[in-house]
Amino acid sequence: MDELRQTDDEALLVAVAAVQERINRESASLVALVAEVVTRGLAGAKGFRDTADLLRTVQNVALSTARARVDAARKLSPLFLITGDQVDPELPVLAEAFEDGAVTAEHVRVIIRVLASLPPHLGEHRPVLEADLVAHARTLDPDAVDTLGRRAVALLDPDGPRPREPKPTRNRLALRPRGSGFEARGWLDTESAAVLRSALSPLTAPVPPDGAGQPRDERSTAERNGDGLVELARRLLAVGDLGVENGQPVALTVTVPLETLTSGAGAGLLGFGAGGSSAAIAAEDALRLACDARVVPIVLASTGEPLFVGREQRLATRAQRRALAQRDGGCAFPGCESPPQWCVAHHVTRWAAGGPTALDNLVLLCPHHHRMIHIGDWVVEIDGGFPVFHPPPWVPGGPRRNPLHRPDLLAPRTPRHSAPVLLDAVLASS
Ligand SMILES: [Zn+2]
Ligand SMILES: [Zn+2]
Repeated sequence: MDELRQTDDEALLVAVAAVQERINRESASLVALVAEVVTRGLAGAKGFRDTADLLRTVQNVALSTARARVDAARKLSPLFLITGDQVDPELPVLAEAFEDGAVTAEHVRVIIRVLASLPPHLGEHRPVLEADLVAHARTLDPDAVDTLGRRAVALLDPDGPRPREPKPTRNRLALRPRGSGFEARGWLDTESAAVLRSALSPLTAPVPPDGAGQPRDERSTAERNGDGLVELARRLLAVGDLGVENGQPVALTVTVPLETLTSGAGAGLLGFGAGGSSAAIAAEDALRLACDARVVPIVLASTGEPLFVGREQRLATRAQRRALAQRDGGCAFPGCESPPQWCVAHHVTRWAAGGPTALDNLVLLCPHHHRMIHIGDWVVEIDGGFPVFHPPPWVPGGPRRNPLHRPDLLAPRTPRHSAPVLLDAVLASS
């Protein structure tokens, strides 16, 4: 520190600038690493929603920061083809300036956003605009580059966005396989949209509500709508109000051989409704679905005859659900804010492996984190009456709990707050 004190003024300012240049270069190396994570598809393999969600956990940064890093990785990194050939990055000039340390990560974020706002019919202007903005970014701060970029786009496109193709007039919804899931596209008339929106509205509110003084729900409106639509369908299935199909109540069934349940290897069959349509699913997915109260499990003996159809023994009782909702307050996964009604009661030791349906073997998990736990990188245990999550070695920070639903436990623990007393009280009142 003494040495720092004696540095003359100008040398101090040179050092300040030099550190920024190093930060810029390090940010560029980070973006290259992120690009490799994207290429390997690690987010899906490890059970995260997407690469930004993975980065948030591994780097302990805000989701918006993680998203900007993923965007930069997609636009600034070369693509490697199966043939071994390499394709230049989408924004080569920006990539080079970033690698040289000449522009900050904030410049990168701004320039990517401006170029993305350029309408497709002006695509031919993109390379020139990129080069111009990068040239100015070497001397203009990110806010100024943002203003410059918006003005340049307005100048190129004085008419604003073009009209689109003719509008459809009939309700439709198409589901097409895409990536590891399905893409939903469709159109609804105003009245139908109003019906759907009013049914969805309680299921798509941010969790927790905005302005509740807690961290914001980071999901976009479209993401909340997607989760809400699936939740709507789940609840309808649970209520059993969809009538009958071929004489059977509509339900999701999962059929698994006994050996699959005990060994975790092999495959199961997921049945949709009673119409007989079904799809093969991996053993791990079958085991995960068997945790869900809304799914009817069918266990087959090695001869193929059903050993067991139904839900008894393996499902938490209402009193247990209530006690769990009290203890965990919602999804117990660290940082998750999903409320208890969205969660399944997961068996820490699988019921098929002899794990009892008891509070010290149950934990509330939302569908997303339930999937993550069944992938097996994260391990949950109940310690001192509360769930504790042990991360895989590539997530620094050690074991963790989810304090978000239980801020009362952050205060010094008093006997009044101890878990067993609290749970006894809840059980007695049910
Ligand atoms: Zn489970
Ligand atoms: Zn969760």
